[in-house]
Amino acid sequence: MAEDETFETTAEHFAMFEEEVALWIERFGLKSWQLFIEHVDCGDLGTRARVHWSLGQRQAKIKLNKVCNSAASETNVRVAAFHEVCELFFSDLTSELWLTRSDAFVDALTHGLIRTLENVVWWPDWKARKR
Ligand SMILES: [Zn+2]
Repeated sequence: MAEDETFETTAEHFAMFEEEVALWIERFGLKSWQLFIEHVDCGDLGTRARVHWSLGQRQAKIKLNKVCNSAASETNVRVAAFHEVCELFFSDLTSELWLTRSDAFVDALTHGLIRTLENVVWWPDWKARKR
């Protein structure tokens, strides 16, 4: 694969992404958030999706990147949606940690937890739903 090769996510990928975000927002009970789900160019080819939040406004944007350096599949789009919902799930904790710890520390800590959740929560659930 050429290093400068890029792949676009489609409207169909975005529909899966929205559906998966909605599922996990519901399951995690994240009802205090005003949520915006967007299909946009995140300006970073290395990222599949992003989340931004404002604790004060209790607003969050979860974005599926339109252009990425790896090919999109249903599985990687849906796991990315789960991943971003997990980031939102931890956002109160993450925001508190950012006050006293480095971005790298907080990032490593939260992503360690999220990878575990992907493996022990999302993957078994997805396998069961796909049947
Ligand atoms: Zn992440």
